[in-house]
Amino acid sequence: MTVSVPAPAVLSVDLSALARNYHTLGAISGQPVHPVVKADGYGLGAQAVATRLMAEGARTFFVARAAEGVRLRAALGADGPVIYVLDGCHGDDAERLKTADLRPVLNHPAQMQAWAAAGGGTCGLQIDTGMNRLGVRPEDAPEAFDGLALVLTHLACADEPANPMNRRQRDAFAGVVDRYPGVIRSFANSSGCFLGPDFAFDAVRPGICLYGGGPEGRPDPRIAPVAALTAQVLQVRDVSAGESVGYSRGFIAERPMRVATVAAGYADGLLRSYSPQGAVWIVGETRPLLGRVSMDVCAVDITGLDVAVGDPVELFGPNRFIDDAAAAAGTISYELLTSITTRVPRRYVD
Ligand SMILES: *Cc1c(COP(=O)(O)O)cnc(C)c1O
Repeated sequence: MTVSVPAPAVLSVDLSALARNYHTLGAISGQPVHPVVKADGYGLGAQAVATRLMAEGARTFFVARAAEGVRLRAALGADGPVIYVLDGCHGDDAERLKTADLRPVLNHPAQMQAWAAAGGGTCGLQIDTGMNRLGVRPEDAPEAFDGLALVLTHLACADEPANPMNRRQRDAFAGVVDRYPGVIRSFANSSGCFLGPDFAFDAVRPGICLYGGGPEGRPDPRIAPVAALTAQVLQVRDVSAGESVGYSRGFIAERPMRVATVAAGYADGLLRSYSPQGAVWIVGETRPLLGRVSMDVCAVDITGLDVAVGDPVELFGPNRFIDDAAAAAGTISYELLTSITTRVPRRYVD
């Protein structure tokens, strides 16, 4: 008997689907797409994602942290794209930002002073139109200043198109940007791209929809799945009525069942909160997880299915949409993607 070595859980990234979503968002918003590739490209690999998006025409990217920007610059080269750092510029960051040719998105007066004290340079400015997270309030927005190339604000409720907050934020932004003639005005994240032409301004900043999440937190036919988390069956077994599966007897069989143990656990990013609502795609069917997700494995009900050791299981992907998987885990696609750990190799397909 030969025993094959099971492949580890793998995160497959469909780069052509990423490219399609990029062009879809450009067509829907009618504006240039400035992709957000923070958190290592939402877990998919910022370098690979940005490289493909550049080949599709993207020239400006956003990251959250200066360190992310430094890594991306090193990966893409000195003559690469424009990179904005959403965190802005903290006291001793300015030199690091300049060395890596990164542009801070300045968020408050101390950041503006730190940037100016370091000699200034091309940068962005965030206006807080109601999220109360980052940025200066419209009434505190500075006059136009040298080096300002982009002004942005961020929507709090864009995934709820009918929420009146969207229009309030849009009007607040429109009311302040006039003082920055010639500066790129960026308003919409992914969901904002779908709110209509009034919300597009000069450039959009999508993240999640590039990576396959729907704009309203559920699958959307306009957005192609990009990421797929798959793992293999390690063992199959029969379980009798009254027997339990996994830690804490988290599942107790009421009838005889067949159970597959799958090589994906919370140390891979299969959130423990999948128990007890989670499901997977296996040999052409959606089947429930049984009991607790453990560190390295989970259990799946395969009663009545013809499943063998080594068979592939899709935790999310083209057959089990990431938004549905996230809902089952009580979370959102963003958290699901950024929770995939470094133990999981990324595989790029085209
Ligand atoms: C993360 C982020 C985005 C992208 O948001 P999505 O909802 O993923 O499209 C855009 N702008 C800012 C300021 C962000 O922090």
